[in-house]
Amino acid sequence: MTNSGVAMWEQRWHPLREEWVIVAAHRNDRPWHGERAAATATRAPAYVEDCYFCPGNRRVGGACNPQYHSVFVFDNDHPCVGPDAPQSLAAAPGIYRNSPATGIARVVCYSPLHNVTLAELDESEIRTLLLAWREQYIELAARPEVRHVLIFENKGEVVGVSNPHPHGQIYATNFVFKTIETEAIASRRHYAEHGRVLFQDIIRSEVTDGRRVLTENGSAIVFLPYFARYAYECYVAPRETHASLATMSDAELTDLATALKWLLVRYDNLWQMSFPYVLTLHQAPTDEGDYRGFHFHIECHPPLRKPHLLKYLAGPEVGGGNFLSDTLPEVKAAELRALPAVHYRAARP
Ligand SMILES: [Zn+2]
Ligand SMILES: [Zn+2]
Repeated sequence: MTNSGVAMWEQRWHPLREEWVIVAAHRNDRPWHGERAAATATRAPAYVEDCYFCPGNRRVGGACNPQYHSVFVFDNDHPCVGPDAPQSLAAAPGIYRNSPATGIARVVCYSPLHNVTLAELDESEIRTLLLAWREQYIELAARPEVRHVLIFENKGEVVGVSNPHPHGQIYATNFVFKTIETEAIASRRHYAEHGRVLFQDIIRSEVTDGRRVLTENGSAIVFLPYFARYAYECYVAPRETHASLATMSDAELTDLATALKWLLVRYDNLWQMSFPYVLTLHQAPTDEGDYRGFHFHIECHPPLRKPHLLKYLAGPEVGGGNFLSDTLPEVKAAELRALPAVHYRAARP
């Protein structure tokens, strides 16, 4: 072992992904001489003429955005999945298989303001976004060809987003994304074997331990899970089991908005920078499957583990297929919990 602090090697089981996460916490002390992500400190204007998402502007596809005042949803002009994907494919060679990939891709603008982020919206605005997400999920799920609705936000240049206008995306597809499928299978098996919801058992374990719970309110909880793969990976979830946003009450949505806001403000306050992340809603597939054991939650995966320092996916992750975490979830949870409640940009005079 090295002399760089207390070394810790441990495998922790990720019950939703059904894989081991290797915690090697002393590695965090390694000196770093490599690349650093650049932080942008200056605030952009509230309206940008050549932004495809600002109200009144023309988009790539030629359509014009309305003068919207709240959340605005439109079909993606450059979709990764489209409704017109070819249905008859050439047979795959040899042992290989293929299948048509079809879907609907949409963009969700969170605000008409170009220069705010989700963390800076107030709780009622975040609640409005949750309502819009719920409406989208219900509408798209009703289509027979749609088997899954993936709602997500990529935030920050380090995760490939060049336009800072606050927005997320929706992929409604004829296939179920792998992580959701894995979670659905694990949840179904747990429900069949124990008669309990797997995610409820996770919440119970987190609450009983307490060290990784970040905040709780009437019906929502935020925690940095025992099995976190990324340093600041956090889950935001309703306490009651809902397979998706569709069955959540208005009061639960209000609490969920409060919980999400709590987390995103801490993220930004951590290093006083707009914190990059991949935020994904994990909702049950929308095919005819049995999802009684599936518990809707939001997962946030920030790629940074130190200021401007990316967690690289390398040998263990890409080559070996298991995450190696440099940090202890208990330590990172305490770090987030200790941060101020007011967003650092709002707190400035
Ligand atoms: Zn804009
Ligand atoms: Zn999940």
